[in-house]
Amino acid sequence: MSKALEELQQYLEKMNRFNHVTTLLYWDMRTCAPKQGYEQIGDALAYFSTEHFQMSVSEELKNILETLSTPQEYEALDDKWKFVVKRMKRYFDKNERIPKEVFEKSVKIQTAAESAWEEAKEASDYSIFAPHLEKLIEVTKEIAGYTDPGRELYDALLDPFEEGMNSSVIDRVFDELKKDLIPLVDKILASEQPDDSKFQGKFDVDAQVKVQKMLLDYIGFSWDKGAVGTTTHPFTLNFSSKDVRVTNHYYEDAPISAMFSAIHEGGHAIFEQNVNPDYDGTVAGSCDYMCIHESQSRFYENVLGRNKNFWLPIYDKLGELLPQFKEISLEEFYREINHVRNSYIRTEADEVTYAFHVILRYEIEKAIFREGVTVEELPGLWNAKMEEYLHITPRNDAEGILQDMHWSGGSFGYFPSYLLGSIYDGMLLDTVEAELGNVDEILAQGRILEITKWLNEKIHRFGSTRTPLETLSAVCGKEVTAEPLIRYFTKKYTEIYNL
Ligand code: ZN
Repeated sequence: MSKALEELQQYLEKMNRFNHVTTLLYWDMRTCAPKQGYEQIGDALAYFSTEHFQMSVSEELKNILETLSTPQEYEALDDKWKFVVKRMKRYFDKNERIPKEVFEKSVKIQTAAESAWEEAKEASDYSIFAPHLEKLIEVTKEIAGYTDPGRELYDALLDPFEEGMNSSVIDRVFDELKKDLIPLVDKILASEQPDDSKFQGKFDVDAQVKVQKMLLDYIGFSWDKGAVGTTTHPFTLNFSSKDVRVTNHYYEDAPISAMFSAIHEGGHAIFEQNVNPDYDGTVAGSCDYMCIHESQSRFYENVLGRNKNFWLPIYDKLGELLPQFKEISLEEFYREINHVRNSYIRTEADEVTYAFHVILRYEIEKAIFREGVTVEELPGLWNAKMEEYLHITPRNDAEGILQDMHWSGGSFGYFPSYLLGSIYDGMLLDTVEAELGNVDEILAQGRILEITKWLNEKIHRFGSTRTPLETLSAVCGKEVTAEPLIRYFTKKYTEIYNL
């Protein structure tokens, strides 16, 4: 091994220790720390993450990466280290171009915007957040000018989440979806809706935790490499492929919510637990691409979890754990977990109308960064699009433009990932069926772990080493298309709603 590679490995070990601490602090804050402890944790978190950031832009790292990038050194590396050096060098060069004072300014703007957003949401008053949003947009533009000079702004913003993806591809597939989903959803909403009265009442929270365990076992979550915590907004995080944490939120009056959060976060976790462990502690490990990550969580949650056959082998068990479900037939349950509603809140939407919630945000982001729409105009634009796609108008800002925290954290370009994930799922479903056989049968026979194994093999083990488009072409052998997802929706909901 070359001296420079040895130096890089030692440097990464040091950085990883800082990263481990910040991840742990974050986990602690989001799962069990008491409110009065937040400030202290926040202080430690700022300290350790700044140290970590400093290490990622240090002169020492720059020298190591430059040495390893010389042809002689680079050619001697194996594939994994070639990937790591190339990726780290690119990040380094990008970050290095941001002037220190601009970076510091952006952190300040972001911190202020996050608390303003919380306050604004609480008061349901967009005017509290608007001036902060304006500053966020400005500083985002400024930073993109340094990191991606000469590149179209919104495409540059998409890149960190969807490397290799650009808005012309997204425009094409979202337009395909809109064309067919608008009439489909209109037909669904006009038809008879299922009776959901049996799902009202109080459902024991301890029992819901047991249901979560059963579901995680069932889909292939590894408890030797994973743990579960309780939080407000469920998320998954990981230290390495050997330590992946999922979280959940249990509502006494809405038991289905925790079931599907468990399956969704379980999907993220199964991905991370099955990344090649040799990649741990490097940028080759833990998958960075949000659309591919969401494709996995949403494949488990929607394509598998909202399939009636998924529940066939375990429905009796569900009734044993939550006795109210003994009074609900599998058919009734199936109807309810696929109940399509035109609702205001993205995170509570069914799998079909979810598409519109994302398209709306994507179109608004383009309006901000391409058409120069002002922050004052945004609530009006939001409401007009809600009316256009779902025929409802939010009654206030909290259930409209203030509902998501993404923009307050400066995350522009993130939303399309959610829907791209579902679009990839349509393509994946076709491929799974071509290679493993009919998914309904596999699920009905309780062989879901065969699908998990297939995903491990085809997608998970690669971690970050393949971009989304590389993954799709390797696994599905074709370009991105929304056609399979549209076909899946049309077939499924025509049957359910008797259209
Ligand atoms: Zn997710």
